[in-house]
Amino acid sequence: MKKRQRILITGCVQGVGFRPAVFKIAEALGLYGFVYNDTKGVTVELQGGEEKIAEFLVRLRGADKPPMAEIKSCETVDIAVVEDENQFIIKASDSEGAALSQVTADMIVCGDCLAEMGDKNDFRYGYPFINCTNCGPRYSIVKNIPYDRTNTTMTAFEMCEKCAAQYTDVTDRRFHAQPVACGKCGPKIWLTDNKGKEVKTQTDEVITEAARLLLDGKIVAIKGIGGFHLAVNALDEKAVKRLRERKRRDHKPFAMMACSIEKIKQYADVSELAEKELRSPQCPIVLLPKKDNSDIAESVAGGVNTYGFMLCYAPLHYLLFDKDIEVLVMTSGNMSDEPLICRNSLALERLGTVADAFLMHDREIYRQVDDSIVHIVDGRPVLLRRARGYVPTPIVTGKKCGQDIFAAGGDLKNTFCFTKQNQLICSEHIGDLEDAEVYHHYIGSIEHLGRLFEIEPKITVCDLHPGYLSTQYASSLPEARIIKVQHHWAHIASVLVEHELEGPVIGLSADGTGYGTDGAIWGCECLVASLDDFERFGHLAYYPLAGGDKASKEAIRPLVGLLKQTYGSDFETDKFRWLFERIEPDGIKKAQVISGQIERQINTVETSSLGRVFDAVAAMVGLGSYNHFEAQLPMALEAIIASGVEEHYDFELVKGGGKPLKIDLTKMVKQLISDIQEGEGSGIISAKFHNTIAVALLEMAKKARESKKLETAALSGGVFCNRYLTNRLIKLLKKSDFSVLFNRDVPSNDGGISLGQAAIAVNLVNRKQ
Ligand SMILES: [Zn+2]
Ligand SMILES: [Zn+2]
Repeated sequence: MKKRQRILITGCVQGVGFRPAVFKIAEALGLYGFVYNDTKGVTVELQGGEEKIAEFLVRLRGADKPPMAEIKSCETVDIAVVEDENQFIIKASDSEGAALSQVTADMIVCGDCLAEMGDKNDFRYGYPFINCTNCGPRYSIVKNIPYDRTNTTMTAFEMCEKCAAQYTDVTDRRFHAQPVACGKCGPKIWLTDNKGKEVKTQTDEVITEAARLLLDGKIVAIKGIGGFHLAVNALDEKAVKRLRERKRRDHKPFAMMACSIEKIKQYADVSELAEKELRSPQCPIVLLPKKDNSDIAESVAGGVNTYGFMLCYAPLHYLLFDKDIEVLVMTSGNMSDEPLICRNSLALERLGTVADAFLMHDREIYRQVDDSIVHIVDGRPVLLRRARGYVPTPIVTGKKCGQDIFAAGGDLKNTFCFTKQNQLICSEHIGDLEDAEVYHHYIGSIEHLGRLFEIEPKITVCDLHPGYLSTQYASSLPEARIIKVQHHWAHIASVLVEHELEGPVIGLSADGTGYGTDGAIWGCECLVASLDDFERFGHLAYYPLAGGDKASKEAIRPLVGLLKQTYGSDFETDKFRWLFERIEPDGIKKAQVISGQIERQINTVETSSLGRVFDAVAAMVGLGSYNHFEAQLPMALEAIIASGVEEHYDFELVKGGGKPLKIDLTKMVKQLISDIQEGEGSGIISAKFHNTIAVALLEMAKKARESKKLETAALSGGVFCNRYLTNRLIKLLKKSDFSVLFNRDVPSNDGGISLGQAAIAVNLVNRKQ
């Protein structure tokens, strides 16, 4: 029987080759009608036999779904049959308005393109920029909307006849693939020395020579999709060390790239889930447990128990690895914490003293986008850095907001977020705003993303911290109404919105620092929180922290604060001379100065920071005294945990007479110190410490449940990037019948703050309307 149906499909369905896929299936089944993008997703009208229409839906959801598409919902309604229709067409867009998200994330090269690149008979054989509708760069090359070739950096290249024919053929895999190109008409690669002098220009020679240099222990800057990488042979200790020295002050573990899962398995444990993430179209760096005695150079990732691996994702990577390369360090092409470099001239200027050679190309990268990082927590993939492959894909919610909102994020690991209708559009990882260039990049990125999504925010939301640059920027915006949101509340709100909940829940939020409503620096909080409001139910007992910015770097500062808190008037620096001198040669002198600062309240704050407690414990067990990068000491402490330790230290929950409940770690600190004095292994001490924090948070959550009759615990904050602690806490909570929520699409560190801010603002606006 002939009938007509209107089908509304939502999810990630725009800019991923969805309409051509719909077209092809409809044609094959002899169905008439049309398809177009609209503000909700994709709308299809189909006319034909009932069975054929049913088959259409099966194929669209199954075998014929474009690889990058994700169907969230599919609503069908029967409508009146239209006479005189005899074809299926793709309509440009809904007459009621343009599509919402025209720009999609950068995608890894697809299998079809890889096969063509390896096929001697294909006209794109060996071409490093092969792409199609299902793959290739997007966000990184877009300058403006609409998403047409003229608004991308590919406008510099005029398509040859062959490319143009594919681009305009609706049945072709390259129909309207904006970056389509070939060796004749498209971008090219070349190799230069570190002064920019061309060494090789013929594609195959460039690749061969670059690979030779890498195997020879040289450092090669490679221009990729979202910016430059600094590459070096990861099996060559001397070479990796040289890269570390030249990159200056960089102690962070380096990420690595390999061309197959089998190769990665030689060096790291790859679970089934981790393999799925590695192979996903977003192709993030996945943190994997190190295998013992692997051949990876020691300097790649000292002081942590994981390797960060990703698979090749650009065609160029595959061509390079084809020349007998095993595994490469592929670290961001920048100096320390500056923004990723994406322009050829700037690369030569800034990285000329680091790299021995440059593998350049002339496809301009308009937006630099870092590699994303994923790790596995509680048997699920969780983002640690959300950038390439994920941005600017919006997080879609059930609630629509009548006003555009800008959420400024936090100052560390900054991201910002826009809201438009029912979409929350988070920026890529921007970085730490205290670096002047990162801040400049932040401003530029806000303008750019706002333009791409046509957002004109009248409401701005930012952190409560008056000293945050993001707060100051938000305050400087003209005509904007400002909402200020407490840091840890934003963390918990990010979890709520990801699960489409409003709360209240028991929010366990733990991190380094966040400005509190009482002016203290909060850091380990139990908030009974909803999107409407929060109550501070409990927190880690305050301890004094001296030294401002230095306090998050020098572990001796929180240590002195904790000791003073623990021993009260009995505390004398001399009694702990052995401990301070174990940490630093002149530790005792430093401790005396810090102790004096605290007594006179010079540059001293009260804090419940949990991150700083990790710093202090790491220093006490001899893992160093300085965070060269954020969370270096806590990561080192996690890395040495002895397995199979179930014990924990003692602690107390202290009632505060109408005030929040407090976690008092006095007993723990004393027991931990006596463990050290008795020569207990640092791996066991570390395990007992982690276990203590997990149990303390569990007990706090139980008290909140008793008092508030809530069953759901939501976890967020940078401390929960610690896999051991988080896995253990989630297990304990579940065992005690809590339902547990955790971040999923945004990082639990400060990279998720902007999403939480945005969610709270949306809720506020909707409530007032
Ligand atoms: Zn492709
Ligand atoms: Zn061409």
